[in-house]
Amino acid sequence: MNRTHNFSAGPAVLPLSVIEQLRDALPNFQGTGLGLMEMSHRSSTFDEVHRSAENRLRRILGVPENYSVLFLQGGASLQFHMTALNLLGENESADFVVTGTWAKKGLEEANRVRAGRTAWDGSESRFNHLPNSVQADPNATYLHYTSNNTIYGTQFHSRPSDSEIPLVADMSSDICSRPIDVSKHALIYAGAQKNLGPSGVTAVILSPWALEKSPGGLNPMLDYRLQVEKRGLFNTPNTFGIYALERVLAWIEDLGGLDHMEQRNDRKANALYSEIDRTDFWTGHAATNDRSKMNVTFRSPSTELDQRFVEAANAAGLMGLKGHRSVGGLRASIYNACAPESVDALVAFMQEFERTNG
Ligand code: PMP
Repeated sequence: MNRTHNFSAGPAVLPLSVIEQLRDALPNFQGTGLGLMEMSHRSSTFDEVHRSAENRLRRILGVPENYSVLFLQGGASLQFHMTALNLLGENESADFVVTGTWAKKGLEEANRVRAGRTAWDGSESRFNHLPNSVQADPNATYLHYTSNNTIYGTQFHSRPSDSEIPLVADMSSDICSRPIDVSKHALIYAGAQKNLGPSGVTAVILSPWALEKSPGGLNPMLDYRLQVEKRGLFNTPNTFGIYALERVLAWIEDLGGLDHMEQRNDRKANALYSEIDRTDFWTGHAATNDRSKMNVTFRSPSTELDQRFVEAANAAGLMGLKGHRSVGGLRASIYNACAPESVDALVAFMQEFERTNG
């Protein structure tokens, strides 16, 4: 099959084997005579899919038993609002590690609902590095951070703070890319469209503390307490998206889980960063210690060459390499499903581009 090398930041490449299973599920799902998208979300067939998705995510990430797992709609952007709405009581405030555009949006929502405080802000250096350790306000209700900054190409390689304040993490662009300690987090959320499946599903993992903070009586769609009570079935969930996510999780488990994903992602990231560091032609955006293994941001010697690179790469079957408009330059997103061969092809293309334009 003629598929291009896809370096899109999201929605992003999915494993071909998963796409083929999705295709086969459309006309007649598991011999039921109904297509996957045509059956009730309350049917036993879908219930099995839904439970399997939850169980797989629990197994893969090692989610503690007393934590809850939801698959909601509205994207990570709705979680910016829902976290603040559910977790912040009257006169309470959350601290934010502002490491990029998405963190800032989370802070804005906290301020819309209650109050948010900037605990650290990397905007002056165009978000090219992360703090070593954040001093959170001891009175803050929680500390929010973005584990991987999709736009700027930085990634926390350890938790941002050792303080006892509950940690809330947006893991949209690196969930399930490496092992993490879920029990050290009060709440984790992630839009699926980078590492878990298609857009339209958001995984939310809630500690007992987070559930208790939820005051009840909110709009049901925005109410963690109610959503957990209803197992995410207060209304019709994204049944297709949840099945796709379940299949992506099966793919991760079949390959060997997060230890395998981490090795696979390390290898890809090393190949790309080695090429960036090998020559002065390329310049990386992120500080070396904070480099993301998911989004590799870099540039050539000029904006004209960046543009030429993107065009030539597209023509050569390497797609999605234009940097986000707020950083410029180039970005290769190499999430779990990005094949090592795609990264090899990109490195070879970069070498050829340097040879002809350097
Ligand atoms: N957080 C991060 C880290 C992201 O990369 C994105 C999307 N690129 C978002 C939040 C927003 O996600 P959504 O479009 O699902 O609302």
